[in-house]
Parts: sequence; C-alpha cells; structure tokens
Amino acid sequence: MNRKEKIQELSEEIFENLARLVKHDSKLSEEKPGKPFGEEPAAVLSEALQIAESLGFKTVNLDNYCGYAEMGEGRDIIGIAGHLDIVPAGDGWHTDPFAMTKIGDRYYGRGTTDDKGPVIASLYAMKLLRDEGISLNKRVRLLMGCNEETGSRCMAHYNEVEEPITLGFTPDGNFPCIYGEKGHMGMVAESKQTKILDIRGGFVSNAVCHQCETVIPAGEVTEDALKKALADTPLQSFRVTEENGKITIFAEGVAAHASTPLLGINAAGCTMEALEKAGFDDAFVHFYNSHIGTKCDGSGCGLKFEDEYGNLTFNNGIIGMKDGKIFCTIDIRVPVTVTKEQLLQGIEPYLDCDGGTFTVRGIGDPLFYPKDSPLVDALYGAYTEISGDTEHEPMVIGGGTYAKSLPGIIAFGPEKPDTDYRIHNADEFLIIPEYLQSIEIYMKAIENLLKI
Ligand SMILES: [Zn+2]
Repeated sequence: MNRKEKIQELSEEIFENLARLVKHDSKLSEEKPGKPFGEEPAAVLSEALQIAESLGFKTVNLDNYCGYAEMGEGRDIIGIAGHLDIVPAGDGWHTDPFAMTKIGDRYYGRGTTDDKGPVIASLYAMKLLRDEGISLNKRVRLLMGCNEETGSRCMAHYNEVEEPITLGFTPDGNFPCIYGEKGHMGMVAESKQTKILDIRGGFVSNAVCHQCETVIPAGEVTEDALKKALADTPLQSFRVTEENGKITIFAEGVAAHASTPLLGINAAGCTMEALEKAGFDDAFVHFYNSHIGTKCDGSGCGLKFEDEYGNLTFNNGIIGMKDGKIFCTIDIRVPVTVTKEQLLQGIEPYLDCDGGTFTVRGIGDPLFYPKDSPLVDALYGAYTEISGDTEHEPMVIGGGTYAKSLPGIIAFGPEKPDTDYRIHNADEFLIIPEYLQSIEIYMKAIENLLKI
C-alpha cells in the first residue's frame, strides 16, 4: 500500500479522533487552579494527549498551557506547533459548531481548519512515518498549545520550561508556506483640543473600525451638508439626527482584519472626512484627516514604506473619548525589511502635531527566512511534490502565527490559496480529499526536515 492508500484506510479513525477535539468549546474562559485558560482548553488538551498516547507516542502536559507528543531520539527537535484553543463559535452556523458534520466532501465544525484539524493531521503524519520504520535521528515533537488565539501565552510558557525546538513548522497558516510575517507597530493618537462632544467606534485594535457614533454641537454645520458629505463616502449606511442642540452621526462601514485594512471601510475615517467636507472646522478632525486618514498606508505620518515583499498597512481600530480627549488605536504591519530605526525616524516629526499627538506603544520584529533557506526549501519542496501545485509561491503575510513565538519555524498549511475556509466565522469547514492530502504533505515535510 502506498501512503495515499494507507491514509485513506485510516480516514474514518482520523475523523473520529478529530470529532473528539471539535466537541470541546475550547475558547479562552475563566482561569481555574492549574488551568490557566479555563476548563475546556485543559479538557481538549487532555483529550488530544490521550489520542496521541493511544497511537503510541510519549506525551507530556506542560501545566495545561500546552502539551506535546513525541517520537524519535537525538539532540535536535523538529517541532510542529498547532493549537487546540478556538475563537468563540459566534452566531450564524447552519450546523452545530461542536459536532463535526459531514456535508458532501466537507466536514463542518469550529476548529476543523483552525487548528484542531491540522493537529490531528500532523499526529497521523508522525504515526505513519514511524510505522514505516523511518530512521529517526532527531526527535519529532508535536506541540499542542491552548492559547494561540488570545496571546500565545502557551508558547511563552513552553519557552520558559522546555528545551527549544531546532526547526519545524506551524500548520496554522497557508500552503505553499509563509516565509515572512510582517513586523508589528502599535501607536495611540490623541486629540489636543476638539469641539467633538463624544465619539466611540470599534471594539478591537486589530480590526477595522466598522461602526462609529459621533456627537457634535449643532450649529457648526448644516444637517444637509453633513448628509451630502456622508453620502459621498463609501460607508454602507449612515444616520444623522439632531436633538437638544446636538447632532449625532451613526456610521456603518465594513469590518476587516487589521493586516488587510483596505478590505474594510473605516467608519471613523469616513466620518472624519465627511465632517471636514461639510465645513466642520475642528483641529482634531483636521489632524485625523491629515495624519491618519483612510488610505491605510501611513503616508500621513511619515510611515509610507514598502519592499519587494509587501507594503506597510495602517489601521485605526478603536476610537473613543476619555477625560475630554479623543484617542485612536493604530495597528501597523511593517514590511519585513524595514527597521525599527526607520520607523522611529519616519514618525518623529509627527509625534506632536497641531491638532493631536502620536505615541508609539511598541514595535515587534518581523519574521523572515529567505526562499533558499533549508527550512523554506524543505517545506515548499514537500508541498509542490505532493500537491503538484508549482504555480503558487511561498508568501509573506501581515498577520502573526506561532512562528513569531518559537524559534526556527514558519507557518506551513493547511489553507490552500483561493479558498475561504471561514475560519473565525460561522460554518468553518475542511475539505476531505484536501485534508487527507495534507497528511501526506506533512509526512514528506518531516522526512525533508529529518535530512537537514
Ligand atoms: Zn489558528
């Protein structure tokens, strides 16, 4: 039997085991003694370790932060880092998110693609290689974390208490592979003086501000001019009401991840543009439009950078008011070759502007492995050999994966280019033939890494 046939033969057992993980609602919950991320993240880890044990692997639970299954001997460790926590299921499902449901050639369920499915796929890749009797001159360790979605404290704990892995991958991104992840820069913008009475919009800094409510004194602009200016923006909808000497503007844009802000429509940005256009003369509105704006490229504050791997993205996620001052969170994804010094030099002249200020809150390093590095070569080679896809190239993304938390690894699968698996959304799914093929790809990848 060849590998494909062996995987096919095991497929029922594989999906049964995956269903055992999917049934846990393992989102971050209240901390319990010995369970840093709550009851269900610990329960799903224990279930996954039981599955690994029943397949004959040595297993270790690291204080319910994460655990691992291991095979082989040697000084070096090939690490495969997946996660068992999930983002909340949310509304809008057509199936039970915690009961894996087969429809056509798909299985639906929270975590089927992100990331319980890839954890099981990697585990079976290890089992099948071991059963083939492959020589294991290195240890192969499948790390299973319980806090990837909300801060990766699981891997910080791993780094504290365990041996570092030598090289490997995290099956929590895209095929062919992700050889670069942009750096991250966080800033806060604040008003100096403003006539705006109240403003609030957005919930998280790492998403586009998709709703915004603004209150200004009446008499500064006409309602008609404001409505006309709002109609000229790409907002999905808006409402303007006047009451007790105040005008309230409700603006509805489109949400998107902060790493791809141009896929969204920023409700705060559109409101600011419309206010200025309608003739609302305000120092902060002018500051916002000049230095934050809606271009999402940092050009208003000295941060327009790009390199051959991508351009800088700039996103205002939350806007609010505190002690009479407006604040805006800014989430910036920085091209992999741009340095901290370049960023600080770029923003310097804009830190203290007429209508507002910027404060840099933190700058995180990018991740980058050249395309011809042994790691990228081993993984990309495994993908092209098994899938036959030579059209798609290794990619650079603006998001962050475990690759930023663990040395020597990059993201590798499972998502294929051009498919929306609805991760973090209702109706998340995996595609069965593709999933089974990913096991074969991971086998080849481990084999290649053993040779480095
Ligand atoms: Zn994930």
